Amino acid sequence: MKRSHLAAAAAVLLLALPFAPVPDFWITQLNYIGLFSLVVLGLVLLTGVGGLTSFGQAAFAGVGAYATAYLTTVLGLSPWLGLVAGLGITLVLALVIGALTLRMSGHYLPLATICWCLALYYLVGNLDALGKYDGLLGLPAVTLGDFSFQSERRIYLLIWLAALLAALGVTRLLDSRPGRIMRALNTNRGGGSTMPEAMGASTFRYKLVMFVVAALLASVSGWLYAHMQRSVNPSPFGIKFGIEYLFMAVLGGIGTVGGAFAGAALVKLAEDQLQAWLPVIFGGSGNYEIIVFGVVLVLVLRFAPDGLWPLIARWLPARGRRAVDENAPRLSARSHPEGGAALLDVRRIRKQFGGLVAVNDISFAIRAGDIVGLIGPNGAGKSTTFNLVSGVLPLTAGEVKLLGQRVDGRGSRDIARAGLSRTFQHVKLVPDMTVLENVALGCYLRTRSGTAAAMLGLDRAEEMQARAEALRQLRRIGLAGQAHELAGNLALGPQRLVEIARALASDPSLLLLDEPAAGLRHKEKEALAEVLKQLKAEGLSLLLVEHDMDFVMKLTDRIVVMEFGRHLMEGTPAEVQASPAVRAAYLGADE
Ligand code: ADP
Ligand code: MG
Repeated sequence: MKRSHLAAAAAVLLLALPFAPVPDFWITQLNYIGLFSLVVLGLVLLTGVGGLTSFGQAAFAGVGAYATAYLTTVLGLSPWLGLVAGLGITLVLALVIGALTLRMSGHYLPLATICWCLALYYLVGNLDALGKYDGLLGLPAVTLGDFSFQSERRIYLLIWLAALLAALGVTRLLDSRPGRIMRALNTNRGGGSTMPEAMGASTFRYKLVMFVVAALLASVSGWLYAHMQRSVNPSPFGIKFGIEYLFMAVLGGIGTVGGAFAGAALVKLAEDQLQAWLPVIFGGSGNYEIIVFGVVLVLVLRFAPDGLWPLIARWLPARGRRAVDENAPRLSARSHPEGGAALLDVRRIRKQFGGLVAVNDISFAIRAGDIVGLIGPNGAGKSTTFNLVSGVLPLTAGEVKLLGQRVDGRGSRDIARAGLSRTFQHVKLVPDMTVLENVALGCYLRTRSGTAAAMLGLDRAEEMQARAEALRQLRRIGLAGQAHELAGNLALGPQRLVEIARALASDPSLLLLDEPAAGLRHKEKEALAEVLKQLKAEGLSLLLVEHDMDFVMKLTDRIVVMEFGRHLMEGTPAEVQASPAVRAAYLGADE
């Protein structure tokens, strides 16, 4: 049995439960667990996958709850209109808060979400129209035709339908074109924006999308809660619950869909037990459980940083692997320039870091089909030149033309779109994604499915194409056999090759490699050289930035030599090898 079958069976069982003679108490507990899971699923996406921490999810639930409470009790409208209004207001608020904070680094988002949660709590608590701290009472039950979800047993169906559909949507999203970009962003796991941007994705946009999806899930939870309770007041939407949701996500196993349910269930059940027992032990009545949760959180972070889900998942059947159909129709390809046509033209580019001129008026050109080497001792300015050409760094002066089009001053995303693809000196793979998924990430610009399509499962045909293309590129570099291994388990040599396959998956007109041989063992270097020779035979155009002169000699048509940021010479490998100036530069640097 595959894990997806088990999940489907669990879902059917959960939805059938209220029709069985189970005690009301169970139903009540499960209602809360479902409501919490909805919010925590958003945090799985935002915090676990994306690495963006929010304390403000309770406030988004509050927006959903108060919107419907106001519309139904004060204006007398239908709860379904309340849902639409709640989602609309949440969308606008999440877009505004996200747009203001997500461009800033690290700590601004958590701080902003704390402020937002506190602000909403006191705002709602002081507004007459919303009943101040007493809230609004007498919400109607949700109805569908003649059926009214008036009892706990009935609204259970709505709650769990929403939670299970959300789980399905998030699962699908994580395994899709937008999901691969989201999984590459987490700075806590060695990710960031440089690589996804080089693949052509707007990382800001995907951070915003994650923030909005998480907020909408919380808002739905709030709507359900309001119509379950038939009343709202500010306390479930304050910062205490904001922290508790985060606690559930961390405890359950941040970043996994199963962990959202495990965390929500565990916290809810433990909270009831603790609220019953702790006052007996310590006397009086206080929120003692918060202290226990705090201690547990520290212990979990210290001893099981991936949360409890991996411990549970060990007992579950393995995840089914989606087959790759290599006969899927091919993705669109670009028309590449004829051999010998002008491809890259770099004119007097310059980069200053304060007083240091790292790249000093460098010029060179690449024609289609050329393999050009850019070499020089350490610190010569090779990587900086590379970053100027690929758009990672802005130029101080100069001009870069790709296929006749000015690309200097444009970001790496636009340059990728124009037909340039690259690898990284420090390998940037997503370690907990398979090799195949990492390479499929390179197909980003050749595919178009968005977040909604992925969550609804409408991207399947295109996904097949992307996965087939990824496998084809892996076969090209000789790693098809490792397609389903986790990228993090590979040695450095194969990882470098996977980066090349990912770059090739974008169907580039020009491929830039930054020190592909650095840190490789002899055998790995030979394997890499073989792959590059084959790509050369296929007519691919390459710019190879490399410190290792011997490695470059056998592969390139022409070599540009840099020293101290300056252009030292340019010529055939034989000319470069014979040059006393080059030898002196390398000897001088090695001394
Ligand atoms: P290479 O790749 O040839 O080893 P680099 O392009 O990395 O050389 O570096 C060239 C020079 O620019 C070095 O002196 C380096 O210290 C400096 N440099 C590179 N990046 C930066 C930066 N972001 N800020 C300041 N100096 C830098
Ligand atoms: Mg370098």
